[in-house]
Parts: sequence; structure tokens; C-alpha cells
Amino acid sequence: MKQVTEMNIIVLIKQVPDPREYVRIREDGTLDREKTRGLINDCDKSALEAALRLKERYGCRVTAISMGPPKAEDALREALAMGIDDAVLISDRRARGSDTLATSYVLYKAIEKLGKFDLIICGAESSDGGTAQVGPELAEFLGIPQATFVEDFEVEGNHILLRRRMDGGHEKLRLAMPALITVLKEINKPRTTTFSGILRAMNMPISIWSLEDIGAEVDKVGLSGSPTKIMKIEKVNLRRRKILIEGDNVEEKVNNLLRILREEGVLSEVV
Ligand SMILES: Cc1cc2nc3c(=O)[nH]c(=O)nc-3n(C[C@H](O)[C@H](O)[C@H](O)COP(=O)(O)OP(=O)(O)OC[C@H]3O[C@@H](n4cnc5c(N)ncnc54)[C@H](O)[C@@H]3O)c2cc1C
Repeated sequence: MKQVTEMNIIVLIKQVPDPREYVRIREDGTLDREKTRGLINDCDKSALEAALRLKERYGCRVTAISMGPPKAEDALREALAMGIDDAVLISDRRARGSDTLATSYVLYKAIEKLGKFDLIICGAESSDGGTAQVGPELAEFLGIPQATFVEDFEVEGNHILLRRRMDGGHEKLRLAMPALITVLKEINKPRTTTFSGILRAMNMPISIWSLEDIGAEVDKVGLSGSPTKIMKIEKVNLRRRKILIEGDNVEEKVNNLLRILREEGVLSEVV
């Protein structure tokens, strides 16, 4: 049985716009990330925390990878301050506007370059794109088992024992490693960075890789290499209105409520 201490863990972190700031949306529907303050995506902080707890318990090596503009280095610097061992940024202008398939392809090529790994931990979804597709697509590229929306897990020999959230319940799974899991924000409470952690991180190197460095094919990335195009993003203004439902008894009130909902287009007519 493999010793847990030999484990190599990879954590994927995405830098997302600070929700308190205005984010410009470009003509092509992509976010102008370069001009906004970036934060580590919430779920990815929990993914980092999960990996660091394994490191503290068993002494594993933790590497964080991010794909994004040069300023995504800040997110990796914060991850280093939290306590990870290595950081890799794939930053290449040609990758701008990548959809989830192109993003997971790039991450796959970077992981291939890194070599041996046992466990990949991603966030369940990002707070900007929010598709929850990158983890599963990456696992497919790598041909390894995966579990999404994980709310608890532990390592047992060569396996991961986990509980994942499903609609209306939970599922318990045992995955053989190497494996990939995507974790929910609620899986733990991520640590904050300490002053000594920040000082340590300041002097640690971050590897910056281009598409050539990872051997990625240029026509599979960026806007032109992405099968999904964002056609339009619209802001929805939600309005609250108070409506008094009249009627002499419960049945009459329910019928009046259904009528109003149909008139408002919330319910379609039952034929
Ligand atoms: C409003 C909006 C809508 C979008 N809709 C779509 C869409 O419908 N289809 C589509 O293909 N693309 C879409 N995109 C593009 C999408 O944001 C990017 O492809 C993005 O790089 C990955 O998708 P995601 O944010 O949905 O990630 P998710 O799949 O939600 O992220 C899950 C996890 O994957 C990891 N991860 C994701 N991106 C990176 C990264 N760059 N570096 C490291 N780890 C990462 C993180 O661990 C993250 O927590 C959209 C973008 C925006 C801004």
C-alpha cells in the first residue's frame, strides 16, 4: 500500500474579480480581468485549505496551478503565503477568452508537464463563469476518476473516501488515486495568511509557462479555439412587489394566486 507521505497534490486556483468592484464586459462577452482587482475564487481557497491539511497531517507536496493574466500571480503568491510548496502560472495572451474546454485542455497540458501526481483538488465552481465544468473536463483529459461537489473526504492508502452533495441527499464514494475531486466552499474554513507566511512567499519562485512551454496546440485555445462563445451577458434587475391575494377560502386564494402567476408569465397555461 502506498504511503500517504509520498503524495503529490495539485490544487487549481482561479483568480476571479472582486465582487465589490465594477467589472467591464468586453464586446466579445469576456470579462476585462486585467483592470479589476482579483481574488482567489472562494471554493479554490477551500481546495487549498483541504490540501494544506493533508500536507500538515502526512507531509504531502502541494502545487497550485492557475491560468490567467500576469496579475493572477497575486493569487498564487497568496496560496504560497498560505503554505503551498510550488506555484505555476500559465499566462499567454493567446489563451485569452478560452472557454471551459480550452481552459481544461491548457491545465491538462500543464499537469502533464509537471509529471506525477496523486490527487487534484479543484473548486466546485467559479464565482464568475460558474459552469462547474473545468474539473470534470480536466479529469476526462487525464483519464482519471473524479467526484464533484465534495463536502468531506479523507485519504486511505491508495484511495479517497468521500461524501458528495447531490440533489436531495448525499453520496459516499471510494475513488482510486490518481483522482480528481471538486470541493464545495463549505468543506472547511480556509486559513488566513500570516505575516511570516507572506514574508516567506515573497521570496518563493512562481513558474510562468507559455503555451509552448507546456506543448499546447495554439488552435485549441483562446477565443478562436473555443467551441463555446458567450453571445451576450445581460444584467437582470429583480423587482419586489407586494400583491394581496384575495379570496373567501383557501381554494379561492390558491386559484387567484395561480391566475396572477399566469398573467405575470411566471406559470405557463396548462393545456
Ligand atoms: C459570465 C461568464 C459566463 C461564462 N459562461 C461560459 C459557458 O457557458 N461555457 C464556457 O465554456 N465558458 C464560459 N465562460 C468562460 C469561463 O469562465 C472560462 O472558460 C473559465 O476559464 C473556466 O470556466 P468557469 O469559470 O466556469 O470555471 P468552473 O468550471 O466553474 O471552475 C471550477 C474550478 O475549476 C478550476 N479553474 C477554472 N478556471 C481555472 C483557471 N483559469 N485556472 C485554474 N483553475 C481554474 C478552479 O478550481 C475552479 O474552482 C464564461 C465566463 C463568464 C465570465
